[in-house]
Amino acid sequence: STDVTERHELSDRRERLLEQERDQVEQLRQLDRMKDELSALVIHELRNPVGVIKAYTEILLDSPELAGAERKHATVVDRTTRHLQDLVDDLLDLARLDAGHISINPCPMPAGTMLHDVVDAHQPSAAAKNLTVHASIKPGLSVYADPQRLRQALDNLLSNAVKYTPEGGTVSVTAEHDGDAVVVTISDNGIGIPAEQYPHLFSRFFRASNATQAGIKGTGLGLAVTKAIIDAHEGTLTARPAPTGGTEFTITLPAPRLDFAGRQR
Ligand code: ADP
Repeated sequence: STDVTERHELSDRRERLLEQERDQVEQLRQLDRMKDELSALVIHELRNPVGVIKAYTEILLDSPELAGAERKHATVVDRTTRHLQDLVDDLLDLARLDAGHISINPCPMPAGTMLHDVVDAHQPSAAAKNLTVHASIKPGLSVYADPQRLRQALDNLLSNAVKYTPEGGTVSVTAEHDGDAVVVTISDNGIGIPAEQYPHLFSRFFRASNATQAGIKGTGLGLAVTKAIIDAHEGTLTARPAPTGGTEFTITLPAPRLDFAGRQR
């Protein structure tokens, strides 16, 4: 019977330990949430002053009296502030995603129109580098997505394709149905990503060694934001070496579906 008592004590102790562990996990979760909310708050507060600097720099640059070295200096301030603004926006998106505050308002929407829009928006920067942009977008594609966020995701991928493809290269965008889902690929024949670095691609602040060596500027946040946006849509985002050299990104998004009452879900 001592054996039985001992076994009881052991199982009591195990219960207590488990309970303590659960409490600790809950405490850590709460701290983690507080940290996320605090960073979202701080980053949000950074937005206003950056916006003010940007606005006043633009006013300065608009003045015809600003010339010579002063104009050059103001131009540098302008460019740097734009970079800072992008950085703050990306950080804010990520902090909001962590805190679960990002607003995804999905609705059934035509994907093709948006894709053509995004491709058109990048034509000038592509043309400036002599890049050819191919778009093969099936008409009538419909997705269940947040238009603003989806645009942001596509924008990020397309601007990367343009940014990481040297003069004279090619960027291709395709979109088609795969059963119920819509599959979008954005590929280029640019500098590519070293094979062993693919696993880190969607981590915050990650920049591939060849990109930094080539002196191409970036924050390493765009893909993390893009991945978070697609994840929030219950879609998938993957990357692999493109058959033409360079990189190919694939987005898969759920198509609008009707529930049993015939409503859009
Ligand atoms: P950024 O471009 O600001 O550095 P991203 O998060 O968008 O940040 O991309 C992370 C890294 O992934 C980039 O720094 C680059 O090394 C690599 N990368 C992204 N897109 C491409 C691409 N199309 N071709 C080659 N490398 C890419």
